[in-house]
Amino acid sequence: METSFMYHCLGIRDQECTCTRYEGGRIIFKIRTRDDKLYCARCGSRHVIKSGSTVRRFRSVPIGSRQIILEMTVQRLECKDCGAIQQERVHFVRGKERYTYRMKRFVLDLCRIGTIADVAKQVHMSWDTVKDILKAELGRKYSRPDLKEPRYIGIDEFAVAKGQVYMTIVVDLECGGIVYVGNGKGADALDGLWPKLARAGCRIEAVSTDLSEAFISAVREHLPDAVQIFDHFHIVKLMNEKLDKVRRDTYNQETDENKRRLIKGQRWLLLANGDNLSPKAEERLYKALDINRPLATAYYLKESLRRVWWQENKQDAAIVLDDWIEQARQSGLKPIESIADTLARHRKGILAWYDYRISNGKLEGINNKIKTMKRQAYGYRDMSFFKLKLLSLHDSTYPFSG
Ligand SMILES: [Zn+2]
Repeated sequence: METSFMYHCLGIRDQECTCTRYEGGRIIFKIRTRDDKLYCARCGSRHVIKSGSTVRRFRSVPIGSRQIILEMTVQRLECKDCGAIQQERVHFVRGKERYTYRMKRFVLDLCRIGTIADVAKQVHMSWDTVKDILKAELGRKYSRPDLKEPRYIGIDEFAVAKGQVYMTIVVDLECGGIVYVGNGKGADALDGLWPKLARAGCRIEAVSTDLSEAFISAVREHLPDAVQIFDHFHIVKLMNEKLDKVRRDTYNQETDENKRRLIKGQRWLLLANGDNLSPKAEERLYKALDINRPLATAYYLKESLRRVWWQENKQDAAIVLDDWIEQARQSGLKPIESIADTLARHRKGILAWYDYRISNGKLEGINNKIKTMKRQAYGYRDMSFFKLKLLSLHDSTYPFSG
């Protein structure tokens, strides 16, 4: 076979092909290094003599649908200059890998457009081999995210695999990239983050979290100069939970069967954004609220809570928030009184949104992508691979598919 073909198509420079054969649909090129290209792997000297050989097989890029195997006679060389006895260096593969650099590149190119399973099938490799190739590439590109750049970060936790396993992610809120993935939830999940931030000389100005005490105190301890902002998505979600609790309580206490039925069907309507309801849905909702005073109180408080983030400035927002807390405390409803206390305790961090208008909205998008991935029956066998996939999420080079 011509050397220029070997070089341009297979990436092989110093070898010659001694024989070609077909075996089970595959093409086998028997190759060996030309004598004038042999050199000592330790000192580079060309004064070497052959001292035995072994045969190694490598996968190369396919030609059409044909698999290509390079069957190479690898020489054992004795160096006359340095005295080393070593195998010759094979320049077109890395270490003990059984596929060429060219093949690896080809697999990575396919991973841009298909799932690991698709690629494995196409190139006749095992799922694990394709995954290992992709994992090494993702590791090279993403295992050390830039922690010096982010100014605003968001922290959130999410469940992996049916709520059994948790992970905590830290997102650069400006570019949307994940910069850290911690195992578990709560403060422990962030243990690995702080030394990394310190080493990178980070310049984080503001942090957005939910109302969890664990995150709040961890951020206060490790980033004392950063402003903490309590994410409004989480606050609205918490309010929705309380409203639903009121709904369930009133349902359980109601004795009139007709009224019970009215309350039971209203969960979705109560939790929806009131501005988006159709006239018909609105009518149904008001009917339920009319017959139930506690539920009506909780519903209107839920609707008016959003106004905290609609104000012209921080001063106006403070008035709205304080007013809301006061009304909620007088509602006579335990779940609503408890959220009033929570918000009062975190007043500063809620209003700090007017100084840094950041939220964990981007993290919601990431969460949705992770859910999609779960549906694709993606393997969680290898958590470090999963973490690399998360770190590469904002880069669309390798789509987030199984
Ligand atoms: Zn040598």
